[in-house]
Amino acid sequence: MSLGSKLKQLFSKGIDDSFYDNLEDTLIEADLGPVLAYTLSEELEKKRPKTSDEAVTLIKTALGGYLTAGQLTLEKGQLNLFLLLGVNGVGKTSTIAKLARYFIDNKLAGGLTAAAGDTFRAAASQQLALHGERQGFKVVKSESGGDPGAVIYDAISSALARKDELILADTAGRMHNKAELVNELKKIDKIITGRIKPENYKKILVIDSTTGQNALRQAEIFNEALQLSGIILTKYDSSAKGGNLVAIGKELALPVYFVTSGEKITDITPFNKEVFLSNLLE
Ligand code: GDP
Repeated sequence: MSLGSKLKQLFSKGIDDSFYDNLEDTLIEADLGPVLAYTLSEELEKKRPKTSDEAVTLIKTALGGYLTAGQLTLEKGQLNLFLLLGVNGVGKTSTIAKLARYFIDNKLAGGLTAAAGDTFRAAASQQLALHGERQGFKVVKSESGGDPGAVIYDAISSALARKDELILADTAGRMHNKAELVNELKKIDKIITGRIKPENYKKILVIDSTTGQNALRQAEIFNEALQLSGIILTKYDSSAKGGNLVAIGKELALPVYFVTSGEKITDITPFNKEVFLSNLLE
């Protein structure tokens, strides 16, 4: 059941002593996380909405304050690099293919290279190579098990030689050992910052809508390691409506660039805050 329907149900039972506790639980179930759910229900308790419509409006305004739509713009005539980060399976490799298609279709990048930096999963490189052939962009990859930093270094050399404007770089993001992950990310980051201007380099965390509240912890770890630039939300076609994004917005104040909503290459749209909030609270 959607958050909006649950709120309606809650109000239909009347506002008694347990109302605000139930409200807090309802907000947690929508993946907003305990901190945000507590803050919101406290705020609502002070404002005392009388109907669910009033409550929805208040919640929408409050949540809207934690979300920003960001734009991924390129410095024309220079090499820009978007590094896609996130734990295994969130949708990094497929999002690179979708972004490539979006930038090519909208003529936003003069020349585009993908770096198959997820060297742990042979299928990830193969998947990217196939997309590259189909969409007409170059893919730089290594043998399976190669060094991701070396792949990205090579991709930068290749893109500079071709005067490309954009590199979309994939990463592995295995999480079983945080220290190892952070070290590997820092190595990759150092290679990039040595060759790409800071303003042309975006560190983008991919968040899976279906991950629930765990997404906040993931965002904190990646942000601590690399100081993220922003977020892309995936699997928005699922029943999860991305409440986890708001919890991340509250804690880390990162802009959201795009939302992907399916397995087709064109299933990617720029993030729209109003649409997102309406879907969350419908
Ligand atoms: P990675 O490990 O982060 O690179 O994840 P992948 O790009 O390999 O994606 C993992 C799975 O999620 C694949 O089966 C994708 O097709 C699927 N996937 C990615 N994005 C979406 C999306 O927006 N909607 C749906 N339904 N599936 C997606």
